[in-house]
Amino acid sequence: MILLTKNEDLKAYRRSLKGTVGFVPTMGGIHEGHLSLVKQALSQTDHVIVSIFVNPAQFAPHEDFNSYPRPFEKDQALMTAAGASAIFYPTSEMIYPDGKANGTQVYVPKISKKLCGITRPHFFQGVCTVVARLFNLVEPDHAFFGEKDFQQLQIIKQMVRDLFMNVEVIGCPIVRESDGLAMSSRNIYLSPAERHEATQIFQGFNHVLSLFKRGKNNTTFLTEQLKAYLASTSSFRLDYAEILNTKTFKKSKLVTPGDRLFFAGFLGKTRLIDNIALE
Ligand code: AMP
Repeated sequence: MILLTKNEDLKAYRRSLKGTVGFVPTMGGIHEGHLSLVKQALSQTDHVIVSIFVNPAQFAPHEDFNSYPRPFEKDQALMTAAGASAIFYPTSEMIYPDGKANGTQVYVPKISKKLCGITRPHFFQGVCTVVARLFNLVEPDHAFFGEKDFQQLQIIKQMVRDLFMNVEVIGCPIVRESDGLAMSSRNIYLSPAERHEATQIFQGFNHVLSLFKRGKNNTTFLTEQLKAYLASTSSFRLDYAEILNTKTFKKSKLVTPGDRLFFAGFLGKTRLIDNIALE
């Protein structure tokens, strides 16, 4: 496993590679969810480059940029064991030589304004800007993103289409803990009591799925059921609970094939997101 910290070194390494290159961008705090992307990448490409970069451009000033987990040595060991060919671990100055707000910005309209884009208005611009920069540095054939961040995945796909980028974006399924909680680097913020309550997201999803399977298909009814379930079983402060089309991120009156249930909420200071297909 090769560790690269400079753009020039990454580019030289990329030029030296023969065969296809898979890319897995992460912010570190590596868990099984990230490792599943590496596994998928290894099954489809000859070389897998992982980036570990806590992107300052996607955090608002009041958010957790400073406290975000940065266990680099552990992350490196996990990625080495998983079979990644190289880790790109740049500083902020490498990615944003003119400062995070002064260089070119990439913004995908419309769907960036839905769901997470309401509470975090600059989030997806920060994500697209860093992913575009990383794509240009890594020049991957395929890039792997988790469905855990389903809206992000769709936004990146649109960015790639709109800008004619030469990379195929591949979505990978959500990896969950045995009790159903979607894996996330932020789960370590949870107190034991909050960690226990967090399982109610998946329980709530299953409650909605069972209603849906019994023929209830009014989207407002189903999302109200999730809200009521979480209100009665946990102290979640709801950000959103919505059933939306996964291409347009628009809501229909009745569930239509391919719709997903999206959730975001706070337990204490920790914001958790999750989603599930209604099928
Ligand atoms: P992050 O480090 O949180 O920015 O995530 C890096 C990549 O890992 C993104 O494409 C995420 O969607 C993906 N990811 C994070 N958690 C999971 C999970 N539980 N299952 C699958 N993919 C995940």
